[in-house]
Amino acid sequence: MSEFRVIDFHMHVYEKPWKPWVIDYLRKINPTIDYTKPITEEIILREMDSARVEYGVVFAESTPEVTGIVSNEFVSMLCRNKRLIPFCSINPVKSEDPVAELEYCVEELGMKGLKLLPSYMYFYPNDESVYPLYEKAAQFGIPVVFHTGTSIFRNVRQKYADPLYLDDVALDFPDMKIVLAHSGRGLWYNTASMLARIHENVYLEFSGLPPKKLTDYFPNLEELSDKLIFGSDWPGCNLKKLVEDFINLPLSRKTVKKMMWKNAMKLLGLE
Ligand SMILES: [Zn+2]
Repeated sequence: MSEFRVIDFHMHVYEKPWKPWVIDYLRKINPTIDYTKPITEEIILREMDSARVEYGVVFAESTPEVTGIVSNEFVSMLCRNKRLIPFCSINPVKSEDPVAELEYCVEELGMKGLKLLPSYMYFYPNDESVYPLYEKAAQFGIPVVFHTGTSIFRNVRQKYADPLYLDDVALDFPDMKIVLAHSGRGLWYNTASMLARIHENVYLEFSGLPPKKLTDYFPNLEELSDKLIFGSDWPGCNLKKLVEDFINLPLSRKTVKKMMWKNAMKLLGLE
């Protein structure tokens, strides 16, 4: 497996404990973490080393109803090591000035991308009130990760997680790099796949999906090889095992290489 370099495009951290229902869920999946204490640089790098992950994209979270708050400041501080790539999170429903907030995160905190969770924040991705934020993200040339697909956490409003609304966004912001986190998990795999096929800057990211089912959900992965991105949703997984399972998927080695490394590095302007 050492022939494959790996970047994980979907990692979580926290400073204060997440909501109890999030912790209960994570404890079942990954009991190796103490969810009452903040995640530190040492913990996350140790996990990455054990799984041979070179780089990790780390998300802030501005979703007080569902998981909690992981501040942009905390994430940017945690990501001092260049293997950790900080993405900010801005809640367009609650923020008084989302555009100014994004400017602050990118220009002052040095964050490299934006994470939005429409079903945790309660907005339709194609709501034009959010367009100024997209315009700014497109101007910065940073990737915007959208949570798509169903979630089991309390207070999630699933309707906002349908990736179809991102069709408008991809048309109206053709230069904005859109990453579909979870690739429409549960109900909308075909929609996600269609969007990645027809829109030049839409990508499929596979965190939170069982690797063994991936080729059933997406029979056309080889055709979409330039659009595939590996993500783990750590700590909600066994990272080492997940990386191995993805590398061993019944796909051409060229496609695996793109999915585990090349596409994400290109998206981040790192290669
Ligand atoms: Zn996640």
